[in-house]
Amino acid sequence: MGNAKMTEVADAMLSWYDENGRDLPWRIKGAPHHDPYHVWLSEIMLQQTTVVTVKPYFEKFIQLWPTVKDMACAPLDDILTQWAGLGYYARARNLHKCAEEVCRKWGGEFPATEEDLLSLPGIGPYTAAAIAAIAFDEAAVVIDGNIERIVTRLYRFDGTLPAARPDIKALAAQHTPNNRPGDYAQSLMDLGSRICKPKKPLCHECPIQVNCAAFEAGDMEQFPKKAPKKVKPTRRAPVFWIENERGEVLLRRREETGLLGGMMEFPSADWVEREDKADILSEVAEILAEDVGLVNELKSAKTVTPIKHTFTHFHLYLHPYIIRAETEFGGNWAVWARPEDFRDYALPTLMTKVAKKVAEGQEVLPL
Ligand code: SF4
Repeated sequence: MGNAKMTEVADAMLSWYDENGRDLPWRIKGAPHHDPYHVWLSEIMLQQTTVVTVKPYFEKFIQLWPTVKDMACAPLDDILTQWAGLGYYARARNLHKCAEEVCRKWGGEFPATEEDLLSLPGIGPYTAAAIAAIAFDEAAVVIDGNIERIVTRLYRFDGTLPAARPDIKALAAQHTPNNRPGDYAQSLMDLGSRICKPKKPLCHECPIQVNCAAFEAGDMEQFPKKAPKKVKPTRRAPVFWIENERGEVLLRRREETGLLGGMMEFPSADWVEREDKADILSEVAEILAEDVGLVNELKSAKTVTPIKHTFTHFHLYLHPYIIRAETEFGGNWAVWARPEDFRDYALPTLMTKVAKKVAEGQEVLPL
């Protein structure tokens, strides 16, 4: 896109905004300046929520705390109470922290540059750029998911998210005008949410259709490109159902840190990627002999079909080994519990699946 075309985009967007931009409680169209406190409050509230939900909250907050100083002096509990229903309480806590810092460090006035705004609690790159552009007329490049979509479509930009984010920002920067950067940012936000939607964009209503390469090619919905989701690795491990003569089963507590930290489990080997059953069997023999001292019992061990469980980052197959311990043993491993008492122990779902599988019994296979 040449220079003339780039100004064309900004001009077309600003004219469209003058005609179609919405009046919202925190933005009055045509107002020479916007109160940074209002811009900040609305942007924080709008994260992960819709304009319709935010409106009454915004109005209530402004009524209760008309200035950032009022908010800084309010008890945190009052803010949390009024925030109820907006979710993500960490944001409400940061809101209060940020108000306090604006008062302590900046004398009750929000700093005017993107860089200084970024130093405040709870203000990330998007919010800093939005406040700098909308409240202080800084030609900051405001970029969120909606705006990324518009830019990648304009250029049929092939880079994949999230790695290509800096390149998309650089493209967006080429269009950002020095004149009315705040209105321009808001025009893009509106276009992204109302016209240039992820699915079935309303291109016939779009003011920059003539500049849009994806529209010309007819493949708007292909952009932005996203990196394919990573395939989850599969891990495997033996898990031991060791029963004593009284019908009690051995449990142990997992390490406090890490996955399922501090919960109870049937003893198992480390959950790692293992090739096949032979790998597991040799490990079973090793663990039984070295860690537990059950050398003879392995011969009579039985197994059932593995249990599959999916965690956020991997699939896990646990291969249960059912072992009758003829000799008593103790040490760190020894918490013996009857299966009917398992509910008194913090057994995670994965381990209750193991217990269920063993109890089903009919699938018991010889080793
Ligand atoms: S023409 Fe369509 S795809 Fe292109 S920017 Fe406008 S709404 Fe989005």
